[in-house]
Amino acid sequence: MSKYIFVTGGVTSSLGKGIIAASLAKLLQARGLRVTIQKFDPYINVDPGTLNPYEHGECYVTEDGAETDLDLGHYERFLNIFTSQANNVTTGRIYQTVINKEREGAYLGKTVQVVPHITDEIKRRMMELGKTGLYDVVITELGGTVGDIESLPFVEAVRQLQWELPDEDTVVVHLTLIPYLKAAKELKTKPTQHSVKMLSEEGVHPDVIVCRTERPLTPDLRRKIALFCNVKQEAVIEAADAPTIYEVPLAMLREKLDLICLKKMNITGFNEPDLSKWKEFLDKLNYPKNKVTIGLIGKYLELQDAYKSILESFIHAGAMNECQVQVANVHSEFITEDNVAEKLAGLDGLLVAPGFGHRGVEGKITAVKYARENGLPFFGICLGMQMAAIEYARNVLGLKDAHSTEMNPDTTDPVIDLMDEQKKITAKGGTMRLGSYACEIKPGSLAFKIYGQEMISERHRHRWEFNNKYLEQFENAGMVASGKNPGSNLVEIIELPGHPFFIGVQYHPELKSTVESPAPLFVHFIEAAKIFNEKKSAAKSSLSGALI
Ligand code: GLN
Repeated sequence: MSKYIFVTGGVTSSLGKGIIAASLAKLLQARGLRVTIQKFDPYINVDPGTLNPYEHGECYVTEDGAETDLDLGHYERFLNIFTSQANNVTTGRIYQTVINKEREGAYLGKTVQVVPHITDEIKRRMMELGKTGLYDVVITELGGTVGDIESLPFVEAVRQLQWELPDEDTVVVHLTLIPYLKAAKELKTKPTQHSVKMLSEEGVHPDVIVCRTERPLTPDLRRKIALFCNVKQEAVIEAADAPTIYEVPLAMLREKLDLICLKKMNITGFNEPDLSKWKEFLDKLNYPKNKVTIGLIGKYLELQDAYKSILESFIHAGAMNECQVQVANVHSEFITEDNVAEKLAGLDGLLVAPGFGHRGVEGKITAVKYARENGLPFFGICLGMQMAAIEYARNVLGLKDAHSTEMNPDTTDPVIDLMDEQKKITAKGGTMRLGSYACEIKPGSLAFKIYGQEMISERHRHRWEFNNKYLEQFENAGMVASGKNPGSNLVEIIELPGHPFFIGVQYHPELKSTVESPAPLFVHFIEAAKIFNEKKSAAKSSLSGALI
């Protein structure tokens, strides 16, 4: 039988519950336990797929095609395991299930209520992964902040589970903030006391309090928090700001967060944590030998979370190359033929990001052209790949009006067109081509060199595709479709032989990059950027040599 750890949040949002949950899971996994993490989000959307990235950051996609919260990305990156539809549940999904059951007559004669019907459905889903027998521990992160109206049924479900299950089967970890008041030169515990009080009023008592803090917690402060919040002093954990999220598991190990939870769960016989691969990665990350600058072209650049998986993939691939990856945000709306060289000056590589809608696409196309003509390593993901196809059609094939029908439904040359199966779909939620699909790679291509195998699978999230009516024209002009879906022949990878690195992929390789298994395309892209940078420096020094 599984044990259940619940992670709640107090005082404010954005404290990093996902990272704390993932770090705890990592430590338990490193001690030999089978662990998974799930996230329960209190909003009414059935999933975050219909949310603007400005609202909720990136929409993460699982193997089985669930559009989920970006915290699932952290879980996969930390644990190197796949999550699924079952790992992300929202209020919307809970109500949808209960209402559907009500319509089917499952509650015939009964008044359907928040307690017990909604809370029963929450509890059923909280325990679903535990019942598979695949996990020793299931960690459930509750989205939102304790005290929010919408998170009440979730906290109530935790209360009921704490009451129903044996004591040693549940642990509640409450993550909170200990703010530092500059004027008073003091860390303040009152907000934490209030949030624990609120949680207790809702019937749940935390076993562990993890304190986010800018300054170290003194023993006195720990004692005070323990006393007022009614937990043991060793169960007051300091979570100081870390230079990178990947340091957090080690910080939690030092604070013994894993041991405290194991003790509460009465789990014995675990191993010393094996974090050798993790530490190797951190060493490379912390002591890079080189540095490259990659331009990230997208339209949600003001918000870091919008491209979370891409930024994390750069970190994984950078460490693999012992190279620091500095990401420079490039707003495509301001790029024109006249200023493109100046806007992209200093870059060692260009990544054109996924996206939707027409804003900024002309600037992206101009930037791709510059990268193609100047040997600047180029990596296009999803919309980025589509932009590369449009650029090639316009400037090499001479199809001046070439476009995607997403942006110009009346184009005379729809080199990117709506997929057949998408043509009749009008509903927006969960209707894209989603999740993992196979891709067959052409032997001898750059993609083949990168993946080292003929058959791969990667995750998707799009409605438009490369229009195969134009494929022959593209290939005659030198562009190679080096990856295709074996069943449907949809083009998945395009590349340009002769260019140092020019690859566009219809899928999202960033979704499968983890600390222990970085995405191969990112690793090779950074390698190409490193070579580009070295050549640039060599050219510069030979030029200055010539001037002397
Ligand atoms: N808007 C494009 C499509 O739907 C690309 C989507 C994406 O980049 N994820 O095909």
